[in-house]
Amino acid sequence: MAVDAPEVTAEQLRDQTLAWLHEQLPPGWIEAIDSDDRERWGEMRAAIDYDDWCTRLGEAGYATPTWPQEYGAGLSLTPGQAKHVNDVLNHYKAPRPFNIIGIGMGGPTIITWGTEEQKHKFLRGLATNEEIWCQLFSEPGAGSDVAGLSTRAVRDGDEWIVTGQKVWTTVAHIARYGMLVARTNPDVPKHKGLSYFVLDMQAPGVDVRPLVQITGDAEFNEVFMEEVRIPDSMRVGPEGEGWRVAVTTLMNERVALSGAGSLGGEAVGGSALDRLLTRHADVTDPRMRQRLAQAYIENRLIRLNNQRAADRRKSGAEAGPEGSITKLMQAEYNQRLQKLAIDLEGARGMAWEGRELRLAGTEERGMAWMTAESDASRDIARGFLRAQANTIEGGTSNVMRNILGERVLGLPKEPDSSRELPWKDVPRSA
Ligand SMILES: Cc1cc2nc3c(=O)[nH]c(=O)nc-3n(C[C@H](O)[C@H](O)[C@H](O)COP(=O)(O)OP(=O)(O)OC[C@H]3O[C@@H](n4cnc5c(N)ncnc54)[C@H](O)[C@@H]3O)c2cc1C
Repeated sequence: MAVDAPEVTAEQLRDQTLAWLHEQLPPGWIEAIDSDDRERWGEMRAAIDYDDWCTRLGEAGYATPTWPQEYGAGLSLTPGQAKHVNDVLNHYKAPRPFNIIGIGMGGPTIITWGTEEQKHKFLRGLATNEEIWCQLFSEPGAGSDVAGLSTRAVRDGDEWIVTGQKVWTTVAHIARYGMLVARTNPDVPKHKGLSYFVLDMQAPGVDVRPLVQITGDAEFNEVFMEEVRIPDSMRVGPEGEGWRVAVTTLMNERVALSGAGSLGGEAVGGSALDRLLTRHADVTDPRMRQRLAQAYIENRLIRLNNQRAADRRKSGAEAGPEGSITKLMQAEYNQRLQKLAIDLEGARGMAWEGRELRLAGTEERGMAWMTAESDASRDIARGFLRAQANTIEGGTSNVMRNILGERVLGLPKEPDSSRELPWKDVPRSA
């Protein structure tokens, strides 16, 4: 679809998106949604070829409607225009790519900082879900203080030789590329000696080892790099400016984890509020009813905050610290919501029939949409356990509060004695 971005109206965008869905979705899908025939729709959704669907969605530009069209993905729409497209896709429950890190963080970073060659090389594969990306920031000795990281990149002609270890790297085991921040100059203060690279996860010397979580899933990994060679053409942004590039990724991560895409509180997994309200519509316990009402209020507040942030972006502003407000609210709200879900489940929340908790094999790739409609006790238990990570992943709630204090409320900066020291002179454990 060629969209003349400045001219197109909201109605045209909605009509064009709906026409595309009519053409591309299995026959009967749209009608099943319109008539609220969930069973029929569920059967069709289970039968759809997810990889093929994601390719078509991405190539048509609908997976990433704000991305520039000239790189083979995107529709060059403004965030305000993209909202109309997304409303139609959401309403008709069009499956979306699982590539949350790549699309939510990698793509925007490449669009902001990448060379033309990098944009041509990476954006299409991201949008079509053909190339999953991971984020190689956290290390055993550097999580909240990610600028203190130790992974070294040493220049060798047109290449960099990288040695170090990353940890908690979500989806590294299925990723084609990773966003890597490494230290290229240890003689300057920590924020100034970093550079940002796209790492080929299949390069010799990259070793990915899965870590099993409380849910039984192995969603994230340790990644060891032993003299891995990266061409200089895969450096993103100037040498030594890796921190500024990383901040672009982190700002977009907070937006992605804040529920901004759906505007609601459903971005971080687990039981969605509307399904809980339907499942427990006849609950009589006044305390449970009160907690459901409270969850509804909090969900509305998050939506309104996300709407405010979306309006800001609509006016052309980049993702700003307001992402930290909803990231913080979303994480803590979701933990309360998943706790409520399991409390409402009663004894069924502790025992379930059939499959064990963990997601098996290839289902991992379809994880985001596999849990989207299921409301079995097993998934509610899984959602409760998974939610424990919400206040850690993408920056802890304490760190979000620091950012809000400093950047939104204008409070004095947190003291950091290592900030101005050359990184090599900062005391650290071995
Ligand atoms: C499910 C999950 C997925 C993740 N995926 C990825 C990924 O794909 N890629 C990646 O790079 N990382 C990933 N992470 C790592 C995540 O970003 C870090 O765990 C997080 O930033 C915290 O770092 P840390 O674990 O080293 O804890 P620490 O930084 O050691 O923090 C320990 C405690 O100290 C507190 N604290 C630390 N500094 C301050 C401060 N300045 N002020 C107040 N309190 C402070 C923290 O709030 C926390 O309570 C993931 C984590 C989880 C749980």
